[in-house]
Amino acid sequence: MRVHANDGISAQAQAAFKEQGFTITVNFVPQEELVAFINKEKVEALLVRSATKVRKDLIDACPGLKLIGRGGVGMDNIDVTYARGKGIRVVNTPASSSISVAELVMAHLFGLVRDLYKSNRRMCVEGHDAAAFKEMKKSYGKGAELRGKTLGIVGFGRIGKWVARYAIGNGMKVVYYDRSATADHLEVQFNGDTVRIGVKMVPMEELLHSCDAITLHVPATEDGAPLLGAQEFAQMKKGMLVINTARGNSIDEEELLKALNSGTVKAAALDVFENEPTPRADLLAHPNVSLSPHIGAATLEAQERIGDELVELLVAFRDEVTVGRG
Ligand code: NAD
Repeated sequence: MRVHANDGISAQAQAAFKEQGFTITVNFVPQEELVAFINKEKVEALLVRSATKVRKDLIDACPGLKLIGRGGVGMDNIDVTYARGKGIRVVNTPASSSISVAELVMAHLFGLVRDLYKSNRRMCVEGHDAAAFKEMKKSYGKGAELRGKTLGIVGFGRIGKWVARYAIGNGMKVVYYDRSATADHLEVQFNGDTVRIGVKMVPMEELLHSCDAITLHVPATEDGAPLLGAQEFAQMKKGMLVINTARGNSIDEEELLKALNSGTVKAAALDVFENEPTPRADLLAHPNVSLSPHIGAATLEAQERIGDELVELLVAFRDEVTVGRG
């Protein structure tokens, strides 16, 4: 079977694909050249991460496509229902990157409470100047600790639960809101021992006015309505920290900017943006925003888990198709 991984795949998975008799290419083909490439190379399985879009027009123009694989969770870059309607198998690897995203949330949280992102931006250009050094030491020497603070998690699925484990492990209190999950406890491993820890769901309004920080872990909204818009920012406890590693459209960025400027939101950390890959410049330049370029799932460990899972999925698919033919 001819496989093309347009947004890359781990070296381990490439080797495994070859070992299993697949022909795989991993060169990035620009979106506008992808249809021609797929048809010319007779690609049957197209593997993508979040960058490459697999929309109706591509699906219609590539009749040889049998499988679309998404390395990761969110499939909003793929017209899944349409593809399935045309008999194309669509698969993803939902659990493989939860830990990586959760660790990025904690990295941003630690950075926010100690102003690390601000001092990093300035130390490299001003740190050698004694007066600036002293001024930065004074400005950024008023940080807080995470221990004892309350984190509100919106979306208590795979990633939300891992964030809870890390936050609890760091001494934070955790509450969550989810439209369908109802967990009342989590299993957390400490040094080899598994401990059962109670967790509580609260209404969204309570989470907004009672927490010190809020982190979003819901899928992209289908109707495009943001989870945090004017109404939610109006209900927020003053000085809250906001972290978004879910999807750009989970937050109304205009309202976020207003909340940052008014002090309702003390600082925000964003890994995802409404207009990726060209986020709005005023948001990027805001002094109280800690930034990363959609790297939540992108760790070496997650890449390996994603690659391994895609190999398994494709081998199973090929076997199924072969048996079906036989
Ligand atoms: P999941 O399906 O396991 O959990 C999502 C949870 O959100 C579910 O429990 C669901 O009931 C809840 N939910 C959905 N809509 C809601 C709403 N409007 N209000 C409250 N709860 C709601 O998904 P997951 O694996 O935890 O991933 C969550 C999202 O994280 C993905 O859909 C993706 O958009 C994002 N993500 C981002 C990165 C990154 O690189 N930054 C990587 C992986 C995933």
